[in-house]
Amino acid sequence: MTQNHVTIKIPKELVDEIDKIIGTHGFRSRGEFAKEAIRKLLDHYKSSLSLPRFEILNHDENGVKVIDRQLGRVVDVYIKPVGIKCLECNSSDCVHVNYVLEQPDIQKLIRKKRAEGWKLPDV
Ligand SMILES: [Zn+2]
Repeated sequence: MTQNHVTIKIPKELVDEIDKIIGTHGFRSRGEFAKEAIRKLLDHYKSSLSLPRFEILNHDENGVKVIDRQLGRVVDVYIKPVGIKCLECNSSDCVHVNYVLEQPDIQKLIRKKRAEGWKLPDV
C-alpha cells in the first residue's frame, strides 16, 4: 500500500460476495473489483449531476408532470380552475410550481386558462 491508497471498511458479507466473483470476469483481486464498482457508481452520479434538476415529463389538461432529479421522482403540478398546486409540496409557491411557470408553452396554456377565469398567476 502506498500513500496514494486508503483503506475502506465494508461489511464482510459483501466481501464474501466479491470473493465469489474473483477469478472470473477478469477480476484478480478485491481491490480491482472494488475500483471497477466504484468507478461505475461515480460515472452514474456524474452523468446525473450534469443533467438539469427539473425536466417536464408531459402535460395535459390536468397539469404537468415534472421530473425532479434531486428528489429522484416525478412530481405532479395540477393546473385547475381553482389554481396551480404542487402535490409534492402541497403548495402553490414552490420550486416545482416556479419551474412550471417559467416554461413558455405552459405559460401560453396558463394565459389561455386565466382568460377563461381560472385562478392562475399572471405569467
Ligand atoms: Zn413542489
